[in-house]
Amino acid sequence: MKVAGKNFLIGHTALELREWATGSGEAAFRGGQIAGWIYRNNVIAPEEMKNLPGALRTKLAETFHAPGTAVADETRSGDGTRKLLLRLADGETVEMVLIPGGDDRLTFCLSTQVGCPVRCRFCASGRDGLIRNLAAGEILEEYLLGIHAAGNRRPDNLVFMGIGEGLLNFDELAAALEALTDPERFGMSPRRITVSTSGYLPGMRRFAELGREYNLAISLHASDDATRARLIPDPLRYPVEEILAEADHYLERAGRMVTLEYTLLRGINDRPSDAERLARLARLHHAKINLIAYNETGGGEFSRPPRNVIENFEKIIADAGAHVTLRVERGGESAAACGQLRRMHREGKEKEK
Ligand code: SAH
Ligand code: SF4
Repeated sequence: MKVAGKNFLIGHTALELREWATGSGEAAFRGGQIAGWIYRNNVIAPEEMKNLPGALRTKLAETFHAPGTAVADETRSGDGTRKLLLRLADGETVEMVLIPGGDDRLTFCLSTQVGCPVRCRFCASGRDGLIRNLAAGEILEEYLLGIHAAGNRRPDNLVFMGIGEGLLNFDELAAALEALTDPERFGMSPRRITVSTSGYLPGMRRFAELGREYNLAISLHASDDATRARLIPDPLRYPVEEILAEADHYLERAGRMVTLEYTLLRGINDRPSDAERLARLARLHHAKINLIAYNETGGGEFSRPPRNVIENFEKIIADAGAHVTLRVERGGESAAACGQLRRMHREGKEKEK
């Protein structure tokens, strides 16, 4: 997919680059050199590809975005999480997050769309709907800019939990995943990559058909359809039962245990009976539960449950024998929640006008 009239250099295979080189009147081995810069050295800026002739570097820069994306801003929170605001070639913005973990681990959280068409009522990313899909090259540039920000270090894990519903941008996401896991390109293990979905069923089916060992996380948020309907608007919401049946299929096809994400919202899905039902569903479908304490995005109708309610919710699930983890982001200081940094910037810009 082209953006602002150009393709992206990142993502091309060595073979494609060799063909491009010969088509541009250069020796084929130049394509292999370019691939080496990208996939061995994390370099895509042609001016840094020192062993290429100057004319070829100029031609690369003219032909491709290399890169098309730039870091426009960064926020840091006390726990070491860094959030980058990325400006795309056409001026749109998305976010990517670098999350340090125990044992010196590093996780990147990537976006897949500008905005989001699902428009979950509690989520800042979907507030204005979808602006456009990201190109595979833009998803890969997020990854690369994260590597550069981390001091040329590659992440241990990748999660697609930034802005957008990746399974509604299936082809570009699949192409990016292919480049990330191809041993000849970035060579990452699919077991270290997690795609999060709001439960978009047709996309989940296609994702299973890839037959790869990617992890799938499903944003369930409710164990019954009536509660879920308060959070996710109609057109893109599917029944809980069908989503869980698809989770079973995914486990069978990919051999990976699915994670059920559950954003805790005060007075909506935080009762002890909700925890009991959720634990039962998780056990029945051999899934793990990831509780996320709601991050207030400002001006909304939702709030985070009190700490004791959250802890009790987690305890009920653990006592019922289901696998559960809890994520509490300290959102206020770092604009940590999904889509918040991008929103803050746009609102700032609007105020300047
Ligand atoms: N569209 C995909 C992936 C991006 S959202 C999905 O919905 O799964 C990633 C996760 O962030 C989802 O589980 C979503 O529910 C959660 N999220 C969004 N806004 C949030 C907020 N304000 N506080 C806490 N979690 C939020
Ligand atoms: Fe989109 Fe996910 Fe936000 Fe829902 S939670 S609006 S699916 S990004």
